[in-house]
Amino acid sequence: MLNEEFTGKTRICGIIGDPVEHSISPVMHNAAFKKLGLDYLYLPFHVQPENLRRAMEGMRGLNICGINVTIPHKIEVLQYLDAVDPLAAKIGAVNVVVNSGGLLQGFNTDAEGFLQPLLEKKVDPRGKRAVILGAGGASRAIAYILSEHGSDVTILNRTSGKAIQFIEAVSQTTGKIMGTMELNEMNLSAVMAVADILVNTTSVGMSPANNETLVTRALLRPGMVVADVVYNPSKTRLLMEAEKAGAVTIGGLEMLVWQGALSFEKWTGLKAPLEEMRKAARKALKV
Ligand code: NAP
Repeated sequence: MLNEEFTGKTRICGIIGDPVEHSISPVMHNAAFKKLGLDYLYLPFHVQPENLRRAMEGMRGLNICGINVTIPHKIEVLQYLDAVDPLAAKIGAVNVVVNSGGLLQGFNTDAEGFLQPLLEKKVDPRGKRAVILGAGGASRAIAYILSEHGSDVTILNRTSGKAIQFIEAVSQTTGKIMGTMELNEMNLSAVMAVADILVNTTSVGMSPANNETLVTRALLRPGMVVADVVYNPSKTRLLMEAEKAGAVTIGGLEMLVWQGALSFEKWTGLKAPLEEMRKAARKALKV
């Protein structure tokens, strides 16, 4: 697998996470570099939380030109950056770092990565009632971008205290007011009765627990938009049932590809070969 084409000029990008073995970002980005004939290489770096500071110093020291940041570092990484883009600062989470001559700047492409597939399906978030399940890193970016584009957002989380803290933090940085509830059957039925958009940002339904879903079929209606951030399997049980109910569905793979494409553009300054990245991601996931 080693490629003799790499030289002293090859530029290095990568992803830091714990775990990172499952990531398909290396496949997606290396396919994009190859497609455009760029002398870049993208590698996975397994970074445990106690090593995050050293990893970021290493990025500077080794002149690594860009990284993606995934679970569990998206919030913690902010303290090791020299600058944070206003959108990422408002969201309070960074999933892309660019190294410009030793200056580390953080960005968030998860938010825009979620929005683009929505817009591609001609879904206008303005004036829509959006229900988001989960209050972690992915939820933060999605709640912000939906709210920014005019949706009325309610977040339901298993640990209700965490959802409240989350809402307070987001409200403080963005000025957006969102609702929050504990994730239970009664609350879910109540919000789903009037929801236009449902987004699952929890890992429920992720392989190998493919048969799990937080939302029963009876709560899904025709015309509703149902998005799932889980990308493995590419069609979760939630999405299958939403499709049967006549809803518009958006899978996590599209968000993954879009956030990757937007990261690629930050590092290279070039338009990402989106279709090539999508193809590589689908191949890696065998879909
Ligand atoms: P995170 O920060 O760890 O948050 C996970 C959230 O899921 C928490 O709110 C947690 O609730 C909730 N949760 C977990 N298991 C649950 C269960 N059994 N029942 C109810 N709620 C549950 O993770 P994250 O960074 O937001 O990522 C979440 C998922 O999104 C992962 O599967 C990740 O791979 C995926 N993701 C996809 C993309 C993409 O591009 N498609 C991008 C980012 C993330 P508590 O607060 O109660 O623990």
